[in-house]
Amino acid sequence: MPVLPILQWPDPCLARVAVPAVPDAKTAALATDMLETMYDARGRGLAAPQVGVSQRMFVMDVSWKDGTPAPLVVLNPEILAWSAAEAIGPEGCLSIPGAVAMVQRPTSVSLRWTGLDGVVQQAVLTGFAAICAQHEIDHLDGIVTLQRDPQAAASQAMASLAAASQAAA
Ligand SMILES: [Zn+2]
Repeated sequence: MPVLPILQWPDPCLARVAVPAVPDAKTAALATDMLETMYDARGRGLAAPQVGVSQRMFVMDVSWKDGTPAPLVVLNPEILAWSAAEAIGPEGCLSIPGAVAMVQRPTSVSLRWTGLDGVVQQAVLTGFAAICAQHEIDHLDGIVTLQRDPQAAASQAMASLAAASQAAA
């Protein structure tokens, strides 16, 4: 069970719209590796495109840092309904280390997905789980936080420029 390398933005795989995932043994093995990779990186969510697999799948565990691991493997997620209420909050991303974007999202979503066993499930997510699921679904659509926060994108571009000119010097 290897820890997988996490692609860094702007890797082209992070800008691709992912194709549907199939619940089979290969996907199950990938999910195991993705969870191990996510825990190793001290993250709470990781989407397949972040490890170079352009399929509609993500893993998340919003409570492991509180000492109660609850790993969730989500295939082919679909948001059925969004809350009218929205909130702006800081979001980090394992593919954009050091950048925190302020992103506005609905505070609750009704999510339908397929589990690794092929069974379709549905749940209403609130709080951090709702934000995390929306962040990971963005990855499946080739969207990263910087595209949702012009200010963070600008400061990230400045940081890249500074790093590039430093490397050139
Ligand atoms: Zn991310």
